[in-house]
Formats: sequence, C-alpha cells, structure tokens
Amino acid sequence: MFDLRANEPTRNPVRRSAWFAVGALVGLTGAAIAQPHAAEGDPGRVRYDGQMVVRAVIRDAADLMLVNQVAPDCWSHTADPGPPGTWGVLDYRIDASGLEALRAVGMQVEVLIPDLQRVVDEESRRLAGGAMTRGWFDDYKSLDQVSQFVDGLIAARPEIASRETLGLSLEQREIYALRLTSPVPPDRGGKPVILINSVQHAREWITVMSTMYMADQLVNGYGVDPRVTAVLDKFEIVIVPFVNPDGYVYTWTTERYWRKNRRPNANGTFGVDNNRNWGFAWGSNNGSSGNFGSETYRGTAPFSEPENVAMRDWTLANPGVVMHLDVHSYGQYLLYSWGYTPAPAPGVGALRSLAMGMRQAILDSGGVTYNAGQCYQTLYPVSGGAIDWYYGDQNILSWTPELRGPSFSPPPSVILPTAREMYAALLWLAENYCGADVDYTGFVDSVDFDAFMAMFEAGLPSADFDHTGFVDTDDFDAFVQAFIEGC
Ligand SMILES: [Zn+2]
Repeated sequence: MFDLRANEPTRNPVRRSAWFAVGALVGLTGAAIAQPHAAEGDPGRVRYDGQMVVRAVIRDAADLMLVNQVAPDCWSHTADPGPPGTWGVLDYRIDASGLEALRAVGMQVEVLIPDLQRVVDEESRRLAGGAMTRGWFDDYKSLDQVSQFVDGLIAARPEIASRETLGLSLEQREIYALRLTSPVPPDRGGKPVILINSVQHAREWITVMSTMYMADQLVNGYGVDPRVTAVLDKFEIVIVPFVNPDGYVYTWTTERYWRKNRRPNANGTFGVDNNRNWGFAWGSNNGSSGNFGSETYRGTAPFSEPENVAMRDWTLANPGVVMHLDVHSYGQYLLYSWGYTPAPAPGVGALRSLAMGMRQAILDSGGVTYNAGQCYQTLYPVSGGAIDWYYGDQNILSWTPELRGPSFSPPPSVILPTAREMYAALLWLAENYCGADVDYTGFVDSVDFDAFMAMFEAGLPSADFDHTGFVDTDDFDAFVQAFIEGC
C-alpha cells in the first residue's frame, strides 16, 4: 500500500536536546529589541520599519540563548538541519542591532527579507488594488470575504453544504464550520467525520486559502468527479476556516504578523496562543510559556480561551470524528503526536504511516516535499497543542500540516500550488482511511480483529465503529462486515 519506513524522521539525540532548548527559549519574552511599533502617521497600524527576517545557523546553546534574546519572534517552523555539527537553522524577525549582535559572535546569518515593512506595504497595496476582480484564489482574503465565499458554496449546493456555529470568540465573532456531505446515507450508523481547521495562528493567511480550496473542490466536484463523490458518500468533511477570527482580523487591520488571539492579559499585554491552550499535557515540558507577552503564552488554564472551548465542545458533541487536520504555516511538514514529549505516542504507527501516505500524495500531485515526523523532534516541543488533545484525549488521528512559506507572506502565486497539494493529501487520506485496519499496518489481519475485540469488550469509545456515539452490538456487526470486506 505504502512504505512505512521511507523518510523516517531523524532521531538524533543532539538535535532532540537542541529543539528542546528551542522550545524553552521561544517561550521567553526576550529583550524586546525587535518589537514592532505603532506608526506616527498612521496610528492604527503597527509598522515594521528597520526590521528584517533572517535565517540563523544555531551552533550551540549560547547562540540559541542570544538569538532568542535579541529576536523574540521566532518565525521558524523550519527545523532544517544546517551544516554538520550545528543545531540547525531557524528564522527570526530581527532589527539591525540584533543582527549586529549575532554577527559579532561569529554566527552565520542569512537575510531572507531585508525590509519587512516593504513586504507589508506591497501586500496591502496589492490587496487594496482589486484582487476581487481576479480569481478567488489569486490573492489572500479577509474574514468577511471568506465568510461570503462559504455562503456562496452553500447557496450553490445546499444539498451537500451547510453552515454551523461552533461558538463565539473573545471579541464575539462567530466561529463556524462548513459541513460537507452527500445525501447518500451510510451503510449503518453515522458517517465518519474528517475535521479540518485553519487559522489557529492569526498571521498564517495561506492556511485558510488552502482549506477554502478543499471546500471549493469538494462542493463543485460532487456528482462530477468520481473521487469526490465517493469521499462525500463515505465521509462528512467539516471545515472550520477560522479558529482565531479576532487575531485574523487584527492582522488585516493593525498588526500583520500577530500570532495569538486578542485576550487582554493581566500585565497589559495581549494574546494567548490558542495552540498552547488545549487541555492535554497543558503547560508541560517547556512546550509553551507562562509569560503573558510570549508568542507561545499558554493562558491561565487549559481551555481558558473561548476559541478552544468552541472547538472542544463541538468535537465532544460529534462522536463521528475519526481524523483531524490542524493546518498551519510554514515549513512544509506533516507533524503528529506527541508534541509535548519525545516519547513515541501509543499507536504512533498509524499517525506515521498515514502521514507518509499524504507526503507521497503531495509529491504525486506535482507538489513539493513535506517532511513527516513527530512534532517534538521534527519541529520543537509543543505542549497544549491541538494534535495532542485530539489524539491523546479523543483518540482521533490528528496531524499538523505546515504549508509552504517562505514566510507568513508568501507571494500570491504560491496560494494555488499549496492548496492543490494539500487537497491531494486530503483525498488520499479519505481514500486510505481503513477503520478495520485497527493497528494501521496497511493490511487487515487477525491482529486487527483481536485489537478491536479488546476495545469492544472494554467498551472504549474507539470501538464505536458505526459512529453513533455509543458502543453496542451494531459496532461489532459493522466491524465484522468491514473485516470480511478487507476494510
Ligand atoms: Zn501556526
């Protein structure tokens, strides 16, 4: 079916300790040298004058300590290895004095974006210049434009598309889902659900373009493209465009590279990192920060943020969810649990083999290389992240795709190729999900039968094979049927 062993993530103990340190240090507030400032002529908008984005080669702990002091906003989801004997390379937003400090100690630093304000100016000029007159996926879209697009899809195909409110954000914006499924009923019970969300992090604009492309292809492909028809006959696909609508609006109106939500913190700073606020291993192992001003501030308690609560409560109320994608940018990764510890998650073979399949589907579609691996080692420690809650607490297979860069402002020409490759990954995932392959070896055998029977006898939620929300003899019948049919 697919090779589980190709492209294994590197498991280098030195690298592991390096990324552990990155996680710890990314959490520091830093010396605030590279903070953006409000414009004098345009008081509404934060400017990035004198700031740049650099890629720094981290040789050792001292380098890492220094760079996190002079440039507290780490942009990297790119844990590239770097030259031999180093800890790897990371991207940072930094100013000239910070750059000078790095070069003074002999660090190798490449300037990726020499003038960040110019990028922001060009982007806003371009967006103001009538992107609406071209194709919808030719440029980035505001919160309202996405909402109108969703409503347009529903109006075009109300028999397969509907909208549901999950809850309200801190600033009372609607957090909603687009639900897609065909009128064809499942063989028995309820349809399995694939849940997809974008924009937990406000500045990752390309992520909502990708999830909207999935929605567009699925809505327009049903009854036309046999692959789409089969997928929507088998699954319900639920897309939440904005987990963090307040942050997204703020990046459009005020501060382009804002990451967190807009929670007012006790010390006058703003924002909780929604992807450190989930209630599984919350706050553990330096995978988040307890400092209000940090880009990875975890909040005052697990699920302290209404955006996380809305996602959690919807998930708890919909027992059919079998798979979840939490889409981020950037760095071209397919990450899976655990994020909070280097230990392998139980049943990690399933997460890994399906990630490898998505990676290959992306390549086969003409896309670029995504590296698949466990979040902790491949990226950096993340505690209180969505994938660990979905997998660890809810037994839902969950991944974080990190889309293409090369920054949080990829040129608009990158939108469609990125969207197409992620759509290819989604179709592959839906077509290759096999509930009867309980241990995800790629084939169904007696080990799967024994594993299901153990879950069934224990009454575990994972034995709810027909997705009704409870475990009964119908689940046993459904499993046996699937087992006999080979999936
Ligand atoms: Zn992110």
